[in-house]
Amino acid sequence: MHRFSSPLHFARALGLSLAVLGCAMAQAQWVSGEAAIMGTSIRVELWEPKPGAGAGLIEMVMGEMHRIDDLMSTYKDTSTVSDINRRATHAAVSLDDELNELIERALSFSQLTDGAFDITYASVGRLYDYREGVKPDDKQREKALDAVNFQFVELDKSNRNIRFNHDNVHIDLGGVAKGYAVENAVAMLRKRGVTSAIVTAGGDSRILGDRRGRPWTVGIRDPRNREGLVTRIPLVDEAISTSGDYERFFESDGKRHHHIVHPQTGKSPSQLRSVTVIGSDATMTDALSTGVFVLGHARGLALIETLDDVEAVIIDNQGAMHYSSGLMPGG
Ligand code: ADP
Ligand code: MG
Repeated sequence: MHRFSSPLHFARALGLSLAVLGCAMAQAQWVSGEAAIMGTSIRVELWEPKPGAGAGLIEMVMGEMHRIDDLMSTYKDTSTVSDINRRATHAAVSLDDELNELIERALSFSQLTDGAFDITYASVGRLYDYREGVKPDDKQREKALDAVNFQFVELDKSNRNIRFNHDNVHIDLGGVAKGYAVENAVAMLRKRGVTSAIVTAGGDSRILGDRRGRPWTVGIRDPRNREGLVTRIPLVDEAISTSGDYERFFESDGKRHHHIVHPQTGKSPSQLRSVTVIGSDATMTDALSTGVFVLGHARGLALIETLDDVEAVIIDNQGAMHYSSGLMPGG
């Protein structure tokens, strides 16, 4: 269900004619919408580029989220990524431009993070079901780990095809898909004249412009208190992604098993509770928040410091916060 806060939507719900709304429609205004797509909550807030345009723009964003979910979800047998997983073992499968480019970027994030971000994590990750509390036993995990390595993905960029050169390899774009989706959505809004908006998919937000003269603020959640925030970050024209151990998890044997998987162990890293990355592009901040979560505090922050205009806030397993130098006072 979409929820709109524009007068047009309310009017439609009440069955009023557009003519009656003439006065209310005369001015552009803030509109917002919310929907459950991609297994998470999608939120959009924007300042209308012209009076009455908001509801249609929000529909457009939600449509884009559905499109990307249908293309990439490994929960859907009919998605293109599920099809690749069924057919790419030792055989080339053709790709369209969009997946060709996104998978290329995903592989570049593996290089950048020294393999911490790795879409083949799914070779073992698919054996977990966080909702049902299912995990592989040690033997199953060890066996599946053999197929985790981004170098098993052969992407022929110019001929636009993909092939896995190892048995039992599975990929999952869940570590970049939401960032990619909000980045796309904001590009579509910009093209249609929107200058002030925020699009959020779970832990990934992309901000367009400012909030009509003020920055937008995005809160970083307290990993151990659903209602609480640990801080708020003012942002203009930027992307922000948080990866946490609290989004999807279950506990057994005193351990928290959550949806970020260490490609070397096939288990969830326990050094950190959350990683927030801020930068210019949501596909990048999404991949990096997942990658830094795997790298841990010291290696993760060291990586962030090598990147221009990328910042991070890390909350460790004691609840202590660590900031990259650009977020420190005077930094
Ligand atoms: P969210 O889905 O809340 O945005 P994250 O950005 O933290 O969460 O990404 C977690 C998702 O990334 C997992 O649900 C899974 O699909 C994928 N993933 C888990 N571990 C890895 C990894 N090591 N490398 C790449 N992707 C991963
Ligand atoms: Mg991510």
